[in-house]
Amino acid sequence: IIEEKVDIQKLKSLDKKYYLHPTTSIHQQQENGPTVIFKEGQGIYLTDVYDDVYIDGLSSLWNVNIGHGRQEMVDAVSTQMGRLAYSSSFQGFSHDPVICLSQKIATMTPGDLNVSFFTSGGSESNETAFKLIRNYWKLKGEAERTKIIGLNRGYHGITMGATSATGIAQFQNMSTANAPDFLHAKAFQLDCELGDKSNPNYRESIRGIIEKEGADTIAAVILEPVQGAGGINIPPDGYLQAVRQLCDEYGILMIADEVITGFGRTGEMFGVNNWGVVPDVLTVAKGITSGYIQLGAVIIRETIRDELAELSSDIFFHGFTYSGHPTACAAALKNIEIVENENLVVNAKNMEAEILKGFKYLESKHPTVSKIRAIGLMGAFELFADRANEVPFEPSQMVAQKVVQECMKRKLIVRPVIFEGSNIITIAPPLITNKEQIGTIIE
Ligand code: PLP
Repeated sequence: IIEEKVDIQKLKSLDKKYYLHPTTSIHQQQENGPTVIFKEGQGIYLTDVYDDVYIDGLSSLWNVNIGHGRQEMVDAVSTQMGRLAYSSSFQGFSHDPVICLSQKIATMTPGDLNVSFFTSGGSESNETAFKLIRNYWKLKGEAERTKIIGLNRGYHGITMGATSATGIAQFQNMSTANAPDFLHAKAFQLDCELGDKSNPNYRESIRGIIEKEGADTIAAVILEPVQGAGGINIPPDGYLQAVRQLCDEYGILMIADEVITGFGRTGEMFGVNNWGVVPDVLTVAKGITSGYIQLGAVIIRETIRDELAELSSDIFFHGFTYSGHPTACAAALKNIEIVENENLVVNAKNMEAEILKGFKYLESKHPTVSKIRAIGLMGAFELFADRANEVPFEPSQMVAQKVVQECMKRKLIVRPVIFEGSNIITIAPPLITNKEQIGTIIE
């Protein structure tokens, strides 16, 4: 579409007229048109139609982990498309890319998380997890176990169930009716989850909610091992283990949403590996193909699959047209090969110290910067009017948005997170990012 000579003004006006952007102010887009029009990407860089080169400091949407413009991906996808671009997986039909990918994932995931169901993204994966789990409890004769507990500041996607599980008000306020039976606990109340009833937050903890609602009404707890869109919030050590423990205690299933953390982002292949926890269900998307083609997966323990098989011979009435898309599976296999061959998980771990070093420098230079944090190649800091007393800026000052705009002027893409008065700046560059490039980002 974009030939040698591009009429940029025309592109902008066509964008305004015909394109409804996701997670964008419709009003602002109608006033100003698109923020940037990109035309190509290479490594950690994106180039716009004016030939300005940006650092993709968020791996686009936390997903382009192997970087842009990888010819191996083009070749793998093109070969598969030439052979069998698409075929269905309904009625028990199968094909070699989906079989190989399922097996590959089983060798990578912890414990007996060995069985994969495929989707086209993170929301579909979480939505599938909720339905699959409710179906599981129903077949086991515990149909009243319908409630799902998520955490505040958690993000799980934008389909009805996934938004309902999300603990970020802006997303929930978008539609007037969220799905019933989704509850939210205060994040990271380690003492409460360990059983400290004297803690003032106890009633709002996962444990407190389970006790109030009755364990036999709870189907599952869902959480991200490290919260991403909620501002890169890293749980205290012991928290994930405590949640695993309490799920076991009450016979509740634990879902780890690894849509961002899966496939190396945190410096471990999966986020839960940082704390040695094996959930019952693990959902992935983004990093499974590094965004080259859309794909997600719900990975369940083999024991759950065996129980499902034992409990019913009926059809599992859940499947997307693109469940197990052959071309997407071929892209995932090549992407995983690249992640492994180039030791990108180790690189992510090594770069954590570089990000923290850079953030410490920013903290020393700027009296507003505080609460620096990073795990692998994802990190954040916060901005305060008075950091000693953690006094936030007035929301009308739009501080995080302004910082992000200034970064854009300097050709760095980062993400602001505005949450209950916090001004958080998040970065998550591709897993190929090196020390020098982190230095440039910080500069
Ligand atoms: N879960 C988490 C943790 C995410 O970060 C996201 C997307 O950012 C999703 C789920 C939803 O994924 P998708 O946008 O592919 O539907």
